[in-house]
Amino acid sequence: MSFLLTEEQKHLQETIRKFCISEIAPRIQEYEEKEEFPRIIFEKLRELSLMGMITPEKYGGADLDFSTYALVIEELSKYALSVAVSLSVTGLPQNIINTFGNEEQKETYLKDLAMGKKLGAFSLSEPGSGSDAAGLKTKAEHKGAYTILNGTKCFVTNGKEAEIYLVFARTSEDKTKGISAFIVEKGMKGFSFGKKEKKMALQSSPTLELIFKDCAVPEKNLVGKSGQGFQIAMQALDCGRITIGAASLGLATRAFEEAREYAKTRTQFGKSLSQFQAIQMMLADMATAIEYSRLLVQKAAFLKDHSLPFSKIASMAKTVASDTAMQVTTKAVQIFGGNGYLQRKF
Ligand SMILES: Cc1cc2nc3c(=O)[nH]c(=O)nc-3n(C[C@H](O)[C@H](O)[C@H](O)COP(=O)(O)OP(=O)(O)OC[C@H]3O[C@@H](n4cnc5c(N)ncnc54)[C@H](O)[C@@H]3O)c2cc1C
Repeated sequence: MSFLLTEEQKHLQETIRKFCISEIAPRIQEYEEKEEFPRIIFEKLRELSLMGMITPEKYGGADLDFSTYALVIEELSKYALSVAVSLSVTGLPQNIINTFGNEEQKETYLKDLAMGKKLGAFSLSEPGSGSDAAGLKTKAEHKGAYTILNGTKCFVTNGKEAEIYLVFARTSEDKTKGISAFIVEKGMKGFSFGKKEKKMALQSSPTLELIFKDCAVPEKNLVGKSGQGFQIAMQALDCGRITIGAASLGLATRAFEEAREYAKTRTQFGKSLSQFQAIQMMLADMATAIEYSRLLVQKAAFLKDHSLPFSKIASMAKTVASDTAMQVTTKAVQIFGGNGYLQRKF
């Protein structure tokens, strides 16, 4: 395993950085304030062929490895975590359809998702089941050539903005083997949207409830086998943990960089903040936590890229990187003092 980026990765990282500075940074705050999905940014991501980063070229994707995918998500997260989250979520159904879907599903849905013609969503959580995902209650009953869905899903990122939803529902009473995965399209009869959540942050990445009332989904939209849904969800979430780890890393890195620059320029007691040892120690702790988070994220991606077991390390990477993001941003707010509490650029 190399700790160095390849020339292609360096080039892509630089391209993303320039893109973020020119296309995302000038507009994202406005979208956040309006709580509006930044469609125009996604149009531009599509032009850069970034909507289907890990999907094979054959189905319209960029066929990047996971290490490079994580690098792009990290870079985007430095400028707009909400964009990175929505982008990684549209990747989840792609990963699932590519791994478990049949040729017809790949032709019909995967291509559109990977080419960014349509946006995807992943719907597992329900009001009564979060960590205990296998406790989901949305019912899926076979009727002729259709499956009838009834139930309410929640916390669906890209809700209402997406056209293709990967929905998990219960096909039998068996807790884990009774769950199946379905592709549901926006506009299908009996499929509607519930409330849009008000969140603490990530305002431009929508989070909605989905409501299914006798929604008839064609039987051909079953992904994998009936009863394979839980396995599919867990596999997809293993990959999702790497990208959320990478996103957390981007957030932490940006907070660290901003705090370090502020500490150099802010003067108190006749010195810059960066000359006080207490501040230096905070910055050193922040930098150290970011480095060990990066090692875990990179290792998880490396294992995945080499088809080695990566589930455990991906969970560690997500836990450590997201805890790091919390700790580093908290310390950054501290270094900014009162200004850290204000929503304003310095
Ligand atoms: C911004 C955002 C976007 C999201 N996007 C999606 C999406 O696109 N699709 C989707 O399906 N879901 C999505 N989710 C939902 C997310 O997956 C759930 O929030 C997560 O699974 C946790 O479930 P929960 O919120 O119900 O918490 P709970 O499961 O109720 O957990 C509450 C607390 O209890 C702890 N806990 C739970 N079980 C145990 C235990 N056995 N022992 C000790 N502690 C425990 C948890 O760690 C947590 O601290 C999103 C959530 C957010 C906030």
